[in-house]
Formats: sequence, C-alpha cells, structure tokens
Amino acid sequence: MAQAQREMAAAAAVEAVDVVIIGAGVSGLYQLYKMRELGLNARILEAGGGVGGTWYWNRYPGARFDSESYSYAYSFSEELLQEWNWTEHYSGQPENERYLNFMADKFKLKPHIHFNARLKSAVYDEGANRWDLETETGEHLRTQFLISAVGILSATHMPKIAGIERFKGKSFHTSRWPHEPVDFAGKRVGIIGSGATAVQLIPEIAKNVGHLTVFQRTANYCCPLRNAKIDDETQAKIKADYPEIFRRCHSTFAAFMQEFDPRKTFDLSREERYAFYEEIWAQPGFTKWFGCFHDIMIDSAANEDYAEFVRNKIRARIKDPVLAEKLVPKDHPFGAKRIPMETNYYEVYNQDNVLLVDVRADPIEQITEKGVKTGQAEYEFDILIYATGFDAITGELTRIDIRGVGGESLKARWADGPRTYLTLQTAGFPNFFIVNGAVFCNFTRCAEVVAEWVSGCIGYLRDQNLQRIEATPEAEEAWTEHAESLTEGMIFTKTDSWFMGTNVDGKKRTFLFYAGGAPAFREKCAEVAAQGYAGFRLS
Ligand code: NAP
Repeated sequence: MAQAQREMAAAAAVEAVDVVIIGAGVSGLYQLYKMRELGLNARILEAGGGVGGTWYWNRYPGARFDSESYSYAYSFSEELLQEWNWTEHYSGQPENERYLNFMADKFKLKPHIHFNARLKSAVYDEGANRWDLETETGEHLRTQFLISAVGILSATHMPKIAGIERFKGKSFHTSRWPHEPVDFAGKRVGIIGSGATAVQLIPEIAKNVGHLTVFQRTANYCCPLRNAKIDDETQAKIKADYPEIFRRCHSTFAAFMQEFDPRKTFDLSREERYAFYEEIWAQPGFTKWFGCFHDIMIDSAANEDYAEFVRNKIRARIKDPVLAEKLVPKDHPFGAKRIPMETNYYEVYNQDNVLLVDVRADPIEQITEKGVKTGQAEYEFDILIYATGFDAITGELTRIDIRGVGGESLKARWADGPRTYLTLQTAGFPNFFIVNGAVFCNFTRCAEVVAEWVSGCIGYLRDQNLQRIEATPEAEEAWTEHAESLTEGMIFTKTDSWFMGTNVDGKKRTFLFYAGGAPAFREKCAEVAAQGYAGFRLS
C-alpha cells in the first residue's frame, strides 16, 4: 500500500469524539452519564470486560463494602435509589457489581463503553487542541477532553520477592482473582499480606481449606464489621431515609455516616471513656474509627488510650497468648493505616489448620517452585495468593504514557509526588481532568461532586465558546502547598502505608489524599467555579 493510502486508512480508523473517560468504575460511569446529559459524544475506555472498576476486578471471596451500602450508593437519581434493593448493610462484591451493571443499563451507558480497551498512551496535540489516544489493542481515538476515572486502588502491587515466576502451583493477586470459582478444599494455601483485603479473604478460605498459612508483616487493628441482612421493613426505611442519609454524609469530615465525637479523650474519666469505647465497639461499620473521639487522629496519648482498648479486644479472641501478641499491632497508632473491617477474622487463628508466619521475625527470602522460603523454613503450597495491595492513587495513571504540552510526561512530572490544582488538573495538561478520587472521602460521595464539577466546567466552556482549560502553575503550586500543610500533625504521616505511598519502592513519601475534609473540598470547588474557574487559564 502506498504511504498516502496507509495514512488515509489509519486516519479513517481514528474515532473522533468530544470526551474520553478512562475507566468504567463508580466515577467513570457517572461521569459518562453527566457528559451524555450535556449532549456530548463521549466514550469510556475500560480495561476490563465489564463495568464496575474496583467491583469488577476485586472478586475474591469475602470482598464487600466496608461503608454502608446505601451510603455508597449514587444519590443523583431518585428512581435508581428506589428501584435498587440492597440485601445487606455491607453488601458483597457480586451484588456491588450487579448494582453498577444495573445503573449502567438503566441509563443506557454500555453502548458508549469500549471494553477490554486498556489505554496505552494519550498525547496532547497543541496545534489542534486535541488528545490522541491509543489503546493496547491498537484502537485510536481523538478527543477534546480527556477524563481519568481510573480509581485510587487499581494498579496492583506485586512485592519484589525473588522467584515469583518460579512457583508451579496456582497463584494470583487478589485484584486479579479468576472469574471461575477457586476450590480450596483439601488444598495447601499460602497468602502474603494482612491488610483490608486479606482480612476479608482469610475467613472465607479458612472455612474449607486443607491448610492455610498467612504471611504477616504488620499486624493491623482489625475491627468487627457487624454486617447484617436488610429485611423488608429496614429496606423501606432506608428508601424513605435517603435524603437524611446523604445529608448526614454531606455534613461529616470524610462523607461517611459516622462523625468523630467532638469531646477530648482525657476530658472524660477512664470509666467514662471505656463505657464510650464499648458503645462504639458494639456498633456496625466504621463507627469504631470515625465515631471515636476526634483527638485520636491528632493526639498520640489519646490515640494510645483507644489503641490499647482495641488491642485487648483482639487478645480476648485468640486462645494462644503468644500468637495473640503477634496479631496485636504495637508499631503504629490506631487509624494511621486504613482500619480493616472483619468478620470472624481472629477466630481463624484458633483453627489447627491455620498458621501465622511473622515475616518481620522470619523474612521471606524467595518464592520457590513449591512455595515460600523464609530464613527458617520452606512452606509448600498448591495455591499462593498475593494480597499485597496497590500502587495507590497515582499508580494506574502513571502506568499510561500521558504527554501534555511540549510532550511532557505526566509520570516524569509527578516523579517527586503528584502535583494538582484541586486534585482535578495538573498544569501543562490542558483539557485533562483527573476524577480518580484523591480526596479522603467515602468514594461515591466525592465521585459525584467531582463528576458534577467537571460537567459544569465543560458546560461553561461550551456556553462561553471557550475551547481549552488548564490549571495555572501558580494555582497548582498554591494548592499543593496547602494540601501538604494540612497533613501536619496528622497521625497518617506517622507510619508507612499506601496512604503515604511507602508500600511501593522508590515512590515519594507523601500523603496522597487531600486531607482538608469533604466539606472544605466541596466548598473550594464551588467557589472556584463561581469565580469563573479561578486558578485556571481559559481560552
Ligand atoms: P494493603 O493494605 O496495602 O495491604 C497489603 C499487605 O501486603 C500488607 O499487609 C503488607 O504488609 C503486605 N505486603 C506487601 N508487600 C509485602 C512483602 N514483600 N512481604 C510481606 N508482606 C507484604 O492492601 P489491601 O489489603 O489490598 O488493601 C488496600 C486498600 O484497599 C485498603 O486499605 C482499603 O482502602 C481498600 N479495600 C477496601 C475494601 C472495602 O472497602 N471493602 C476492602 C479491601 C480493601 P505491610 O503492612 O507490612 O506493608
């Protein structure tokens, strides 16, 4: 074929649209709905074979919401709220995936989603003010606006342990769980990790396993979820109460239903404090964290008082006191890392066929053909599971080759930590919005806020006959400094975790969320929009 013909054929294969959204999870689906509401020609590029994002990929047994199903629901459609019945207060992955499919079908979103289309590169063409996109399967799209909705916990993190590829049994990362059921009966199973994912998965495996070995590096403050089915009467009450549920979420720091208690820990006597701790302990969900005294998040002594209460709750559930001490966290404050929510987790360690290996005392040296070799022993497995977490918040985005003005790479630009204005844009990347969820916030609550903000912004540009919007370097600088200053004194910064990026080798140590709280974030976004998008250059 002649060169000109080849170019024509290639050009013909480029799909030109107004908006491309990366990811068909909670944020991406609503963003698509909002773009279609504006009458724009919008597409989602989705790496998976279905919608759901987190709830598509994390299909391991036991995966479920840790926040109340109804506080995580979309609030924008009264019809959707009334038509959908949650069956549990903290519903499981299959139901959550069905819910997101229900939403996508109800609003006829799927015809606008390209599945199995992982974005490989996005290059800004300044002359044309368009983004040129290529997927790993060779699809080409050209768009005026590019919106990243890739989520915060999407890029899997595999540990750097020698020999991972050598293992001859079945092995997988929890967020790449097989679609067909995994049979644990009679099998020797190993699991590396003891974070929120492992804590949901372990009790499910332990129900029907030959032998289970858990490799724990850091013990966590796991708290009882206290899940329950929703009966008809409660269902009707939830549906009637939705305005109040969302009003409440709207008023709290992290947009969960729980709010920190404004009293100071040591203003109460020991007896009063312990009565309060028992009271919140008996409640379901995050009340044991976000319903505690507010100063546990800033005052080390207050934190330690509650932490010791939680440690004793853990100790009481494990028969062997030596084992109990291994499961009790002593190296970080309560709530400095994400609190895992559990159902029958600690009881698992009372089973004869479950072994805990403390890999701080006996580090993993390598993965062998048969299993895991530590300094002191080799453990043989049929199935080896990596519950080793994610390259959070920035990981998925920086794995895509995104190039802004002058060919600048986003990955290089963020090498020293992410820099944004309002978490929504980064200077030098015009018409590129980031709605990943980088605010410390109940996910759907803030996903709706940003999707509505972006749709308002694009609508404004269209009405004003403007073509391009980009954060100014000054606004970005000021916001980044402001965001960093908010974390001063917060207990999050006092330990290593994915919140701080420290679980990934070479990643800059910085608190990756906006820590000013959901109300302040919403207020700031609204203020910027009301000022004609102050801090952005519009042209
Ligand atoms: P994670 O919290 O980052 O935990 C990873 C685990 O792997 C940690 O125990 C870590 O130990 C361990 N690990 C990593 N590399 C290791 C190595 N080389 N050797 C030994 N151990 C190693 O990841 P996750 O459990 O997948 O949870 C991530 C986040 O997902 C949660 O914090 C939560 O926000 C979210 N999540 C949400 C839900 C829900 O809402 N329902 C459920 C599950 C997860 P160290 O602690 O020592 O680093």
